[in-house]
Amino acid sequence: MPATRAPHVIVIGAGAAGLAAADLLRRRRVAITLVEARERLGGRIDTRVDPVLGLALEHGAEFVHGRPPRTLALARRARAGIREIPDRHQRPQGGRLVDAGDAFSSAQALLGRGGRDDEAVEASIHRELVGRRARGVSTLARELVRGFYLADPRTASALALARLSRALEQLGGETAHRVVGGYGRILAPLTRGLRGGEGDLRLGTVVEEIRWGRGEVRIRARGRTGARLAPIAGSHAVVTVPLPLLQGDAIRFVPSLPAGKRSAAARLTMGPVVKVLLRFRRPPWAGSGRRPVFLHVPGAPIPVFWTLAPVDAPVLVGWAGGPSAARVAGRRERDLLRATLRSAARGLGRPQGELEELLDGAAVADWTREPFTRGGYAVFPVGSDGASEALAGSVEGTLFFAGEATAGALAGTVEGALLSGERAAREVLGTLR
Ligand SMILES: Cc1cc2nc3c(=O)[nH]c(=O)nc-3n(C[C@H](O)[C@H](O)[C@H](O)COP(=O)(O)OP(=O)(O)OC[C@H]3O[C@@H](n4cnc5c(N)ncnc54)[C@H](O)[C@@H]3O)c2cc1C
Repeated sequence: MPATRAPHVIVIGAGAAGLAAADLLRRRRVAITLVEARERLGGRIDTRVDPVLGLALEHGAEFVHGRPPRTLALARRARAGIREIPDRHQRPQGGRLVDAGDAFSSAQALLGRGGRDDEAVEASIHRELVGRRARGVSTLARELVRGFYLADPRTASALALARLSRALEQLGGETAHRVVGGYGRILAPLTRGLRGGEGDLRLGTVVEEIRWGRGEVRIRARGRTGARLAPIAGSHAVVTVPLPLLQGDAIRFVPSLPAGKRSAAARLTMGPVVKVLLRFRRPPWAGSGRRPVFLHVPGAPIPVFWTLAPVDAPVLVGWAGGPSAARVAGRRERDLLRATLRSAARGLGRPQGELEELLDGAAVADWTREPFTRGGYAVFPVGSDGASEALAGSVEGTLFFAGEATAGALAGTVEGALLSGERAAREVLGTLR
């Protein structure tokens, strides 16, 4: 089925990857239709303004790791400032908070040191530290693998983790930043002109089927009431949905995707993540010395917390990633909240009842229950070498793939998602020359 009409690209998913792809295509005067299941743009970037404090709270992506060029360029275009977060990691010990900063850097360095794809990160930590008195470092390294990379150290590929860790290090990733006014602001320059001209935006449209042949795609989707909508026809599709949507049968490809593509998706997994945001009437850490920045509570149901530093606000964000998230995911909100307060109380060395009294508002973001995400971000198990790249490959010059899971060493980041979207758009443009 050769393309005979003017190119018309259907971009599926309006997260960072889809928006970046649509923007680049539109700027090259290629007609696009951007199809998004949710009623909002941004996907895993989900900034919401707290009604009491008037501050941006991040239910999804929160940190700009290092100085990633694409993200920073968008922030500049949006005139959004970027503020550095003090690099202070603390943990409770003997009733007070002690600094874990040096051990944290050593743990990062340990993960970046190499490793093999057929070796789990647990084995490489063990080998690297054998004979050395570095229990604190190895505990933190495991915590990082679980909490930050959302993976289980017993199954995560040591090679993939080293690559991810080095890629972040190259961006200066040890220093985290916040976008002033919220992450969502960096997307504003990409959303201009989505309607009118070359743009056509369809929110609340859930893609169920992608029927394709060379140079032709036909999308079947359901609308807000669940009714089948008229097919959307185009010449190419850029698919940016999260990994689990490609692994299962949520979206049917007719004919099926090539076996290599399906096996690439199957070799990756989605790491679970649960975030709980707590707003207090006054800071629950008041009187206990300096305001915490990152607070680690190993072994607690919610093992990591952070404040909104450098912004001064009575807010604690609880984070469970990987195996910790798997243990609490799907719980009723009330139970999850109780577990979060118990963990925070342990971390701050305060009675749980005191935190309950101070609590003024809470929100749970259980990403495993989001039907259009189904987890946090892609995880690379042993044997996944090359899977992200294979997932990124195009099919017969017609189907193109983007999204964080296709971003190789920058998977799991906003920067990776943005770059992947631009890469897919350039691939489409390459077929039009
Ligand atoms: C809790 C959390 C915290 C994070 N923290 C950070 C961080 O601090 N820093 C960082 O750099 N990264 C972070 N990330 C990762 C970052 O958010 C992602 O890598 C990035 O936003 C992914 O963008 P994407 O476009 O690939 O996917 P998404 O943003 O998920 O976009 C995909 C879009 O596809 C849509 N979709 C799905 N199914 C369909 C369908 N059937 N039909 C139509 N549309 C569909 C979805 O609704 C979604 O809008 C975090 C992620 C999570 C979940």
